[in-house]
Amino acid sequence: MKLDPEIKLEIFEKVGIYSNRFSIPEPKVLLTTREVLDMPKEMTEGRRTSAYKYYGVSYLRQNLIFINIKKISDDKSLDNTIVHELIHMRFPYLSHGKRFNKLVRQGLRGKTFPPYKKRK
Ligand SMILES: [Zn+2]
Repeated sequence: MKLDPEIKLEIFEKVGIYSNRFSIPEPKVLLTTREVLDMPKEMTEGRRTSAYKYYGVSYLRQNLIFINIKKISDDKSLDNTIVHELIHMRFPYLSHGKRFNKLVRQGLRGKTFPPYKKRK
């Protein structure tokens, strides 16, 4: 997809809506690899120069996500990528797999999740 002001606004709106539903603080959103490279190195450590390979990346500790618009071809993959990254933020210890995919599907369908509770 081409990054224009309209799509930018749409993405920020979607991130806001899904963040609310998942009861997470709204993350900062990066939309180009340039923006990823321009962030302080320690913030994007581990997924910096490799970010371009992915549809999206979440930097959990920084409350930051990268949505790789250039790689995304349609609205469906866009929504899927946004929800995928936000599910990482809401379920920080859950890795990819069946349960993860189920949560993504539920999120896309409009399910809400209560706030994440840290275990002490
Ligand atoms: Zn992931």
